[in-house]
Formats: sequence, structure tokens, C-alpha cells
Amino acid sequence: MVSPLLRIALPVPVHGLFDYLPPPGVMAEDCEPGMRVEVPFGPSRRIGVLVERVNDSPVPPERLRPACRLLDSAPLLDDVHRDFLAWVAAYYHHGIGEVFASALPLRLRKRAEPLPLRAPGYALAVGPAEALAQVARAPRQRELIERLAAAPGRRQLRAELRVQGGDAGAVIRRLLAKGLIVECELGEVDAETPVPGSPLPVLHAEQAAAVQAVSEALGGFAAFLLQGVTGSGKTEVYLRLAEQVLARGDSVLVLVPEIALTPQLARRFAERLGGGVALLHSGLNDSERELAWQRVRLGRDRVVLGTRSTVLYPIDRLGLVIVDEEHDTSFKQQEGFRYSARDLAVIRARRAGCPVVLGSATPSFESLRNVELGRYRRLWLRQRAGGAQPPEVRLLDIRDQPLRSGLSDPLLREIGQTLAAGEQVMVFLNRRGYAPVLACHACGWVSDCPRCDARQTVHRGHGLLWCHHCGSQRRVPAQCPACGSPELRPLGQGTERIEQLLAAEFPDVPLIRIDRDATARKGSLDRLLAQVHAAGAALLVGTQMLAKGHHFPDVTLVGVVDADGGLFSADFRAPERMAQLLVQVAGRAGRGEKPGRVLIQTRYPEHPLLQVLVREGYEGFARAALRERAEAGWPPFSHQALLRAEATQAERPQAFLQGLADALAGELPEGVELWGPVPAPMQRRQGRYRAHLLVQASRREALHPLLDRLLSIARALPEARRVRWSLDVDPVDGL
Ligand code: ADP
Ligand code: ZN
Ligand code: ZN
Repeated sequence: MVSPLLRIALPVPVHGLFDYLPPPGVMAEDCEPGMRVEVPFGPSRRIGVLVERVNDSPVPPERLRPACRLLDSAPLLDDVHRDFLAWVAAYYHHGIGEVFASALPLRLRKRAEPLPLRAPGYALAVGPAEALAQVARAPRQRELIERLAAAPGRRQLRAELRVQGGDAGAVIRRLLAKGLIVECELGEVDAETPVPGSPLPVLHAEQAAAVQAVSEALGGFAAFLLQGVTGSGKTEVYLRLAEQVLARGDSVLVLVPEIALTPQLARRFAERLGGGVALLHSGLNDSERELAWQRVRLGRDRVVLGTRSTVLYPIDRLGLVIVDEEHDTSFKQQEGFRYSARDLAVIRARRAGCPVVLGSATPSFESLRNVELGRYRRLWLRQRAGGAQPPEVRLLDIRDQPLRSGLSDPLLREIGQTLAAGEQVMVFLNRRGYAPVLACHACGWVSDCPRCDARQTVHRGHGLLWCHHCGSQRRVPAQCPACGSPELRPLGQGTERIEQLLAAEFPDVPLIRIDRDATARKGSLDRLLAQVHAAGAALLVGTQMLAKGHHFPDVTLVGVVDADGGLFSADFRAPERMAQLLVQVAGRAGRGEKPGRVLIQTRYPEHPLLQVLVREGYEGFARAALRERAEAGWPPFSHQALLRAEATQAERPQAFLQGLADALAGELPEGVELWGPVPAPMQRRQGRYRAHLLVQASRREALHPLLDRLLSIARALPEARRVRWSLDVDPVDGL
């Protein structure tokens, strides 16, 4: 007997699954779990995923409604994946319907039919160098050729071929006429033979050991931390492992931070591994994303390169999971469904029965702790590949130094010498804009954001005061809004101001700024990076965008304008972040033949954490900082969940959370503490007042039942209706 009722995950605010009768005229056995179903929900209709068929429902039979329509003829999500998603929903205490929806591309969350896999596209007909030579003077044709050259298999969907400020159609016609590109179909193609590139490097001993350790584990779950300084050859290790997994007929999932998902990385994978590389970056439109999703789900593409959300996608025969730069905070989704893609990568590998490799030069403290506990096995890459030397790191005491736009004379001198030697310099400051505050010299007015407890940043280029928290903007005033004085002064510095100073100091040297403002246009980051690689002596100024993933082999000096922000923050994770950023930035220096130097300006050269970082590197730093965490009982030595609440009236979040804390106070299990409620560090943001209640448990097993209890109390509290609230399991910021 076929179970007659459909249990469906619906993306609605009400948690739980919903039972329906099959659609009129459809047999229950034709409704397979994993298919999408359209159902009536209240007065409207929703699209959900059939989770299982059941015999009985808590809903009385007379109240069960029939579904409207079955949308698929075959399941989109298989059993293993549905189990994984259900686990994820339970772990994060998030609505299962929303979690299921996150595993689907946008079009399929709606009524749309899955796209056919075959889709028109174009391929390069000749080698990229030859093609580029023929279009040297036609920038838009050049752009299109570059796009094709960067794509896996050197071909691209028609829909994905766009050119700056114009119609790709005309450009395509011209390239077709010249015979530089040909029409092709994408989608059904299967992996082709790899494009032979330069000969493979001979693995150095540590790389070989790492590859061997992971390949011996293929076919079962095992977790590895691949800890290697930047340039030590981690990507080469990933590539060798991917080759082995492909040879077994399995798929590889590679998760990277958003900013690191560059055409260069994709090209490196595609050239080595042939076609069959799906690239899931944020620039895809809905149909492109869906096609990639389909290809991966069906095993047409066996290598998946993607950012955070890709960890939720169905993948055929998953054989290896890789998380590059695993410490990167962009793996944590910070709103809505707040999951950690890094943590889920490990869970996913365990459920799929395959190894997971977490790679980083500066591993998260969570992963280091897991190594200590024996849950992850550490693989070291201590040398840089190709024999490049580690950079020399020095602290520059700026306490009594005159500063020009934040730069001291010794730093400016070293910059000058390096440039004179024909080498490149990178100046790092993790703050974009011109200056963080505009202040009135006459009356003390400052550029407060009207909606946040924060200042609006001065952006010279745009002529704007701009809040980095809520996006509020106004024109830079000519006179003080309070007293009318013209004596308005920008205080402190951002990358724009440093750029201005350096341009004045070194007028003959190419100067390239890399931050979110300078790279806002699509593709501009790649263009800027190409300029850097083409230049001889050059100056680079930038934010953490500079610190991530890119190779600047000719940079031999890195100047860090300000390292002090991370030393005295209220956030217990600030030192970890500061050290990761400094080490990552330092890692950009001297990756070529020439050794690099790193100069860090600080007002606290004796600070123990800075000292240990400079003397012993990230390892020593992490040991010392982890000891502090252990003593304070902070994660990773405990487990946290954060209940956030916000409202336009300041007292409401507080009242809601207090009610919750009072209700729970009597029933806290051993080892679980409640902290708060307290106002968030930036209490007002976007016009809303925010407060937190932190739950901390020494054992995870104690935390999750309590969170269930907490949520059921919270939903029943009348105050809940007057606030916006959400639960964040394993929070990484806002504490
Ligand atoms: P990471 O990912 O750790 O930053 P990569 O894998 O990108 O390091 O390697 C850095 C550079 O060294 C790359 O240009 C790469 O081609 C090269 N490389 C990697 N492994 C070797 C090796 N065994 N011998 C020579 N060069 C290598
Ligand atoms: Zn004033
Ligand atoms: Zn604001």
C-alpha cells in the first residue's frame, strides 16, 4: 500500500512540515519525495518540496486539502540530500522549508520548469593569444575574447556573454565573421580532455605527503586541516586531489570566499581538469545559475567551484569537499538563514562519506581546536613552493612620529627606496573612503549617521558622506550644518586619502587602489589586477580585498597603516581576525624570487599579542590567544547561540529578551548560562534599536534542547510580536 499523504516543506515563517492530499487526478505513488509541489497555503499558493509520503497526519482528514499541482516529473533532491537539509534545519533551528528552498536555484523556488540542459553558446575557435592579437584595437571584442578564454573549456553560454555598456550581439557577429569564435551548445557536453598547459610542477615533499594522506582517505569520511602559508602550494594540492577524485568518477566541491572566486582560479581548475567545471559566482543570472546547478546535480560537471551557498546544492556522487581560506568570515551567512558553510562542508562530507580538506594559512581557532581534539588531521605546508622566502616582519613604533595622512616618515622612506629599485609596494588599510569622520573645527559637530550609532565616512571621489552600516548618504556639506563654519575637517584616514598622499609623493609611479569603491563595477577588479601584473614599479593601496587570494609576485614591501584596531576591541574574536588579516597581507609580499618585507605601524609595539605574532608567527599567536579563550571559557571552548531582537523603540527588544531570560532562568541545565539581555555593540542601526541575549553552553548536547525550549517560549511571548527577532547558532559577530 502506498502511503497516501504528502508531507511538504514550505518556505513560510511557520516552522514545520505541512500535510496535503495529492493533487486532483494524480496518484500518490507518482509523487516522489524530492519533487516540487504547488499547494494552497492560506489564501495564496506556495511551492514546496515533497519530503516524504505518510499514512497519518495530525491534521484531521476533513481539514486536509489537496495539493494543486506536481511540478516535476523526477525528484530534484535525492534522499541523502534531503536528510542533510533536514539535519541542517534542525541544527540551526531554522524553518525546514526555507532551508529546502536555499538548496534550489531561484527559478525553481518558483513555479518554473527546470531549464533544458542544452543551451546555445560560443566557443573560442583559435588559441586565446592568437584571438587577442587579432582584436588588439577593439576593446569590446577583446573583452569578449577574454571572457571566453577565462571560461571552463573556453566556451560560454550566450546568455552569459555580455560586454561593458553595450550589446554583445554586434560584437559576437563581428567575431564570428572573423572566425575567432564558433557557435556551440552548452549543457550536455561532458568533461573533455584537459587543455595541456605548462608541465605540472613536481610536488615538494610536504605537498606529496598531503596529497597522499587525503587520497588514502578517499571513499570514507576524514577531515583534514591543510595549513600552509600563502604561496605554499595549497591550490596545487587541491588540483592533484581533484584529478584523483575525477578519475574515480566522483565529484569535487570547492568552496571559496566570494572575493577569491576569480576567473584566474577558475581557469587554473579548468585548464588542469578539462571541461566539467561549474562556476557558481555571484555574477551569474538566474538561468545561468540554474544550469550550473542542474549540471552539478546530474553529474555533468564534476568540479563545482562556488561560494557559501553552494554547500547546500545537490551534487552527484560527492567524493571530496575542499574549503579554501576556511577562516574567512564570508563563509558565515549573516542574515536570514544564518549558517556556516565551512561547518556544513564538514557535516556534508561526513554524510556523503568522503574526505573534507580545510585549507588556510591562518586557520580559524575552531579548526585549530578540532586538530587538538583529534577530530581533524593537520597537514602542514611550511615552505613556500618554488623556494620563495618568507617575508621579514617588523613593527614600526609611531608613538612620537609625525604622520602624514597616517603614514610615518620611515614607512614613506622605505616605500621610496623600494619603488626606486623597480619593485612594487602595497599599502594596506582596512578602511575605505577618504576619512572615517568629518568634524567641525569651530563647534565640534561630527558626521553622525542619522540612523545608526556610527559616523558617516567621507568619500571624496563621490563627494558624499556615507554610512558603511546602513548606506545612508548626503553630500559633503561646504559649511558646518550646526554652526555654519567653513572649517570642516576630515579626521583619520581611509584608502582614498592614502592614495591622495602617495600620488603626491610619488607622482611618476603607477598607483592602483583596490577596495570596494574602486572595484564596484563588474570585472573592474580583474582589470585592476591585470594592470598590477603588467606594471613594473607600482604602488597598490587597498583594503582586505588586497589580502585575499591574489598573487602579486613583484610586491616586495607591504606597509600596514594601522594594526591597533584589533587589539582593544570588545569582540573576543577581534585579535584572531587582526592576526589573520596581518598574516594574509604579509603573505602577499615577496612571492616571487625577491624576498619581501612587512612594516606594521603601531602605537603598541610592546603589546604581547603583536609581539608573539611577529616573533612566532600565526602558530605562536594562535596558541597564546587560544589559551586566553580557554581561560575565559569562550568558543571554541564553549558553544554559543545568540538571540537577536530589534525594534524602532529602544525598550522593546530589551523587554522581549528580558521576558525570555526570566522564563528560562529556572530551568537552565548544568553548564548552560544566559548572558544579557544587553544592547548590541552598535545599539542603533538603520533606525532600529538592537539587543542580544547570549546562550553559552560548555557542551553542545546541552545547548540544542535548550534552544528548542527557548524558541517555543519566544514564539508564545506577546512581546515577540513587537520586535523582529532571530536566532543565530554559532554566531561569529555582534557579540
Ligand atoms: P597557495 O594556494 O598555497 O597560495 P599555490 O598552489 O597557488 O599556493 O602555489 C603558489 C605558486 O607556486 C603557484 O604559482 C604555483 O603554480 C606554484 N607551485 C605550486 N606548487 C609548486 C611546486 N611543487 N613546484 C613549483 N611551483 C609550485
Ligand atoms: Zn560647527
Ligand atoms: Zn547608518
